[in-house]
Amino acid sequence: MPKKELMEVVANEVKACRKCELWKTRSNAVPGEGSLDATTLFIGEAPGYWEDVKGRPFVGAAGKLLDTLLADANLSRSTVYITNVVKCRPPKNRVPSPVEVKTCTPYLNRQIKTIQPEIIVTLGRHATSYVLSEAGVKEVVGITKLRGEVYSVKLFGLSVSVLPTFHPAAVLHNPKYEDPLKHDFQLLKSLIEKPRQGHSKSK
Ligand code: URA
Ligand code: SF4
Repeated sequence: MPKKELMEVVANEVKACRKCELWKTRSNAVPGEGSLDATTLFIGEAPGYWEDVKGRPFVGAAGKLLDTLLADANLSRSTVYITNVVKCRPPKNRVPSPVEVKTCTPYLNRQIKTIQPEIIVTLGRHATSYVLSEAGVKEVVGITKLRGEVYSVKLFGLSVSVLPTFHPAAVLHNPKYEDPLKHDFQLLKSLIEKPRQGHSKSK
């Protein structure tokens, strides 16, 4: 099946999904959006208030900051793909439970396998620990230690560079995260602009 259809099938399943409790309180599920030919995939945690209202990822305050960071890295929403670990908003923006993550991530896994990104930017600790654990990285420590480095891993048989960074929403609560977040997006920019041999396939 072509990529477009595969992604549409996932999106339609997500919109109708009742596999975990979160369907009961959602207004709209948020499958994700962007280019299906993206080399860079961004993964956040879960939809928040505005994402739930609009059915689109990162359209609230954290999304505005993400747009700025993307622009600073010479990227735009139309050339990357943006999604979340969990596709429906947890009530009061609580952290998704381990059961919700386990139930929902088969959708994310299918999206990753379809898009086949070269780079995955994990926004915050939930996306980071999910992706690195799934890639078999043993030492999944805190985001403060993991961020700002590129991890060359195999994920579902694909060679991927994983770049963990802070969640943009963290900066809205604590400005001390702003400089490292900006730094990590500049690292992303250099990673994308580097010739292909810079895309390390080891580890
Ligand atoms: N925070 C997230 O993790 N994802 C969104 O889509 C919006 C805010
Ligand atoms: Fe289904 Fe995921 Fe929404 Fe739960 S969060 S209802 S698993 S789409």
